[in-house]
Amino acid sequence: RFVTFEGGEGVGKSTQIRRLAERLRDLAHDVVLTREPGGSPRAERLRETLLSGGAKRFGTFAETTLIASARADHVDRVIRPALQRGAIVLCDRYVDSTRAYQGSLGGLDKASIRSLERVATAGAWPDLTVILDAPVERSLERVANRAQGAAGDRFESEGRDFHGRLRAAFVEIAREEPERCVLVDAEGPEPVVAGRVWDVVSRRLGL
Ligand code: C5P
Repeated sequence: RFVTFEGGEGVGKSTQIRRLAERLRDLAHDVVLTREPGGSPRAERLRETLLSGGAKRFGTFAETTLIASARADHVDRVIRPALQRGAIVLCDRYVDSTRAYQGSLGGLDKASIRSLERVATAGAWPDLTVILDAPVERSLERVANRAQGAAGDRFESEGRDFHGRLRAAFVEIAREEPERCVLVDAEGPEPVVAGRVWDVVSRRLGL
């Protein structure tokens, strides 16, 4: 089974996916925790190329095709083999981040986004997508509190308008595909949010 986590900057995605992995491992599930862009050695190299420098280095189309290339390798090397052996795969960002960042915000048309995602995923489609949702103020606070340059993220210096549009893009994705996507309220203490995530995941995966 394949579960992806999505959401804007600073919504606590990485913390929550780690907590979920721990809880599943405590229950003796075989869990593969991975992320995008990246997740395989070659894709991680592309991630560095994409995110280093602090400035936008590629146009949206070049960026999207690089992400698609990284994804194709990640799916071939990590995701599909793990799913085939029966593991639960948890992936921090996947196709919906491309739809939101490169599509809704970057302006690449939907048809191009969809055809690249179809080729790169080659059937490795999430059974469940948890979209963490928090007010823009929360994202701005968390991003400001993070260690400077820790991840080299390009968008962390973006303002309220960027975070607002990003949030709206993810809410729209959740509305468009309710059978796959669940919007989870990411406000509140970490353990409380983890409880919400667990309720959704255990119910949807029948654990
Ligand atoms: O999830 P995380 O915050 O580590 O993402 C790393 C960076 O990659 C973020 O700044 C995010 O904005 C960017 N990103 C992107 N396009 C994607 C996925 C991630 O620009 N499709």
